[in-house]
Amino acid sequence: MSYLRILQEVFGYDAFRGPQEAIIEHVGSGGDALVLMPTGGGKSLCYQIPAIARQRAGQGITVVISPLIALMHDQVGALHEAGVSAAFLNSSLAGEEAYQVEQRLLRGEITLLYAAPERVTTPRFLAQLDALFERGQLSLFAIDEAHCVSQWGHDFRPEYRALTVLHERYPGVPRMALTATADALTRADVLERLQLENARAFVSSFDRPNIRYTIVEKREGTTQLLRFIEREHAGDAGIVYCQSRKKVEDIADTLAQAGINALPYHAGLEGKTRQLHQDRFLREDGIVMVATIAFGMGIDKPDVRFVAHLDMPKNIEGYYQETGRAGRDGLAANAWMCYGLQDVVNQRRMIDEGPAEEDFKQVMRGKLEALLGLAEATDCRRTRLLAYFDEASAPCGNCDNCLQPPEVWDGTQAAQMLLSTIYRIEQHSGISFGAGHLMDIVRGKRSEKVLQHGHERLSTFGVGQTLSELQLRGVLRQLLALGAVMVDVQAFNTLVLTPKARPILKGEQAVRLRASVSAPKVAKAKPGSLSGALKAPVDLDAAGLARYAALKAWRAEVAREHNLPAYVIFHDATLATIAQRAPGSLDDLQGISGMGVKKLEAYAAEVLRVVARA
Ligand code: ADP
Ligand code: ZN
Repeated sequence: MSYLRILQEVFGYDAFRGPQEAIIEHVGSGGDALVLMPTGGGKSLCYQIPAIARQRAGQGITVVISPLIALMHDQVGALHEAGVSAAFLNSSLAGEEAYQVEQRLLRGEITLLYAAPERVTTPRFLAQLDALFERGQLSLFAIDEAHCVSQWGHDFRPEYRALTVLHERYPGVPRMALTATADALTRADVLERLQLENARAFVSSFDRPNIRYTIVEKREGTTQLLRFIEREHAGDAGIVYCQSRKKVEDIADTLAQAGINALPYHAGLEGKTRQLHQDRFLREDGIVMVATIAFGMGIDKPDVRFVAHLDMPKNIEGYYQETGRAGRDGLAANAWMCYGLQDVVNQRRMIDEGPAEEDFKQVMRGKLEALLGLAEATDCRRTRLLAYFDEASAPCGNCDNCLQPPEVWDGTQAAQMLLSTIYRIEQHSGISFGAGHLMDIVRGKRSEKVLQHGHERLSTFGVGQTLSELQLRGVLRQLLALGAVMVDVQAFNTLVLTPKARPILKGEQAVRLRASVSAPKVAKAKPGSLSGALKAPVDLDAAGLARYAALKAWRAEVAREHNLPAYVIFHDATLATIAQRAPGSLDDLQGISGMGVKKLEAYAAEVLRVVARA
């Protein structure tokens, strides 16, 4: 059976996306592969389809290695819904259940087996793989989230290093490594660590055109967030990332008080609570998860409509991975971040105070600067993001800077004022000071501290009187981003000059800045428009909306019965298409995207009944 037919019959999709077909053909015929695709690009099918084809050809099982124990149940459930025999082995299974899976494995009844890396490398599991290997029943290893093997990635897991045993012990069994994290450094590390130097690399475009990127300046972050959600995402599912556990709790509370269905998630919560919140996020409609970066890897909920960052992430890879969790279904989604000077200082401090070696810290600082460059950019955000992944692109028309080009001003003079003031304070007092004090001097404020140190006598006192504090903060952020000024964390976060300040002071390098415009205006939701829960992915008339609502209610029941997230049964887009077509017979249901053979068999009668009654 051809790969395309598997796509159509098992998964109900009519065509491959991007490089899927080439990858599947390469791996299906026994080649090793490195697959770099953005989150939501469609990586799962790249190993699931070869797994199915090879099992059907008598080549045995595929082992999928993934760190995401908490999600294996749903991943396997989704395959069952599509009629594919799959199982998982992890620490959540009782001894007897695990034994049953092992027996099925040895009998060759499983097509895809999901397991965590620490499980795969146990002697017991390897002995079972040995047995399969000897019988020629070990078909493929798919190593998901492969960036976990690299310390340069954002989610290093030492267990991944042990996976080299697979190709040493099972030569000739094809391996594929998949990841959505792919700056050049991480990519090279993955290849080397997993000994995949001879694998064919499939690097797809990292663009996610349906995601709109917006980065705003932080004033009152929480209020800005609330306004963003209320205006653009009432009733939608979304993720809000914060840096600390405490902030996660606070923001979740604030959102809940504002009537938003918000839940907290961070590593400090009890395991049970965490799992419960994750399950609710996956299973219920319209939940906003407020989380630290402990949340999200492998979350394949397709209808997350926004990802908001209330604090600045560590680097562009992390940011891109996190924002990529929005809009996996290909429908419009928002990535919104608000950031301020304090974020820059905090991130810098975390790096400087961390336990790592100096050369490692240097890499991290470089990555932070790249992210700052993105945040301060006055040109297309997407062009910048893609350039970071070595991809050239034209202005996108779907980011804040493209939609509302920011005003730009020449901040060179203001930058010189700040830099020379930092220099003079040092000369005068022999120590350095923080941002607030610096701003007071430049703006000519006779604060107690200024007078106490005699800084009103500095020649730069009051030179920036015409500039607002907001403008000066913008200049300072830019100087930090450029690395012309450093935060000295050993000395109470005071500011010191670096050699990069010189060309700016000498007028050899201009500093162009975005004027601090107020947050971009967004169209307010029309009064009386539908609440999020009923927004449909396609235009529906009143009768269509009624059918859509009835189908969603039916889907919720089925999902509850099967203990699976609703989208595993059918995506919103599939239900909306059904609602639009108003099918009266089995024939009318054929060819709807997401309706594979097994699902048609299992659900067609009920779907037709629901449609007829609505
Ligand atoms: P990734 O693992 O790369 O983040 P997934 O494998 O979860 O992405 O795929 C993202 C979404 O796209 C899923 O909902 C999946 O069902 C859907 N999808 C993948 N390939 C196709 C295709 N060829 N046609 C239609 N939908 C697809
Ligand atoms: Zn753009």
